[in-house]
Amino acid sequence: HKHIDHATPESVLAAAKEGDIHAEIPAYETFDAYRAAGGYEALAKHRAAGDWDAVEETVLASGLRGLGGAGFPSGRKWGFVRSYDGPRLMAVNGDEGEPGTFKDRYYLERTPHLFLEGMLIAAAAVEATRVYIYMRDEYPAVLHILAKEIAALEASGIAAPGYIEVRRGAGAYICGEESAMIESIEGKRGLPRHRPPFVAQVGLFGRPTLVHNVETLHWVARICREGPEVLSSVEKNGRKGLRSYSVSGRVQNPGVHLLPAGSTITDIIEAAGGMTPGHTFKAYQPGGPSSGLLPASINDVPLDFDTLQPLGSFIGSAAVIVLSDKDSAKAAALNMLRFFEDESCGQCTPCRVGCEKAVKLMQADTWDQPLLEDLCQAMADASICGLGQAAPNPIRLTIKHFPDEI
Ligand code: SF4
Repeated sequence: HKHIDHATPESVLAAAKEGDIHAEIPAYETFDAYRAAGGYEALAKHRAAGDWDAVEETVLASGLRGLGGAGFPSGRKWGFVRSYDGPRLMAVNGDEGEPGTFKDRYYLERTPHLFLEGMLIAAAAVEATRVYIYMRDEYPAVLHILAKEIAALEASGIAAPGYIEVRRGAGAYICGEESAMIESIEGKRGLPRHRPPFVAQVGLFGRPTLVHNVETLHWVARICREGPEVLSSVEKNGRKGLRSYSVSGRVQNPGVHLLPAGSTITDIIEAAGGMTPGHTFKAYQPGGPSSGLLPASINDVPLDFDTLQPLGSFIGSAAVIVLSDKDSAKAAALNMLRFFEDESCGQCTPCRVGCEKAVKLMQADTWDQPLLEDLCQAMADASICGLGQAAPNPIRLTIKHFPDEI
């Protein structure tokens, strides 16, 4: 396996041609197939009309929200970025490092051009002079597909040569945090920045920067092609839209399940074929380790931003892991904190020392609950970024819902 020092679409493509990428490349929709089915017509239409305000309205009307945890309406970001003087840049967060998350990979390995068209639409809407795709290096097939399909886009004249640059991540979870990702693209260590200023104002190389997740851009293209109704017409439990749940754990059919955004864990387990035979549903991680563990008794709430927040959890990237009576909630929570301990960037003390201390305390047969609660408070209050602020969630939720185990 030849090491590629600095991946450009050309170098990855060259390595792939030489058979140096050890990845099984799945059958996916190529540029020609996508184009033949009407792909890139929406981009061409809006480029010709320059009606980016109308595109923004359409995206807002769909109800598309970012999956960064806060559920920020995706179209609204464009107006913020555009309100600052250019040149402006765009960065795509493809560093899908959240344990249990694989939806971006799922879409990129099947319909990469939906993502690429959505990306070019968003880039044009903010007049970005360059687009950086920060891609998880553990997805070699995706890197190969992107290199090949970006080359096809350039050859067709839809994207100018060099306009889209693929940057490979290096396995650091924190580089999925948007400001750390920006530092990493700039060639520095991935340390989250203090905010304000927000990246919409001072982002990549000090320029106003639009940051979107891969899945968001997949939906932007679909909304522009199929209308906002593709999301807004789906309604369940008072919530509009669809959500791609990465489902794993003790279910019969793990994988990406596209369900209404108002779905409950009961709906999600059902869509995943039910529990594995011999296993009884006990607990679940609703949205990545930062969302902690909820008990099976909370099985009738829509897994959404507003419902999970009062429960001390959040939907995050919608990475659902289902645990059964054969699993220990205490061990799962410890595993989550070990992950945060490993992945803390070390920049601030509450997170760096807090995660390490929490792991030590959680290894005890009986948890020192008051001390852990104090520690959680300090971490949540004083950490710089979401990693340290949310790391206490698994501890707090395990204390609350699984007192018998701790
Ligand atoms: Fe780094 Fe953790 Fe502080 Fe975030 S909270 S800046 S990951 S040390």
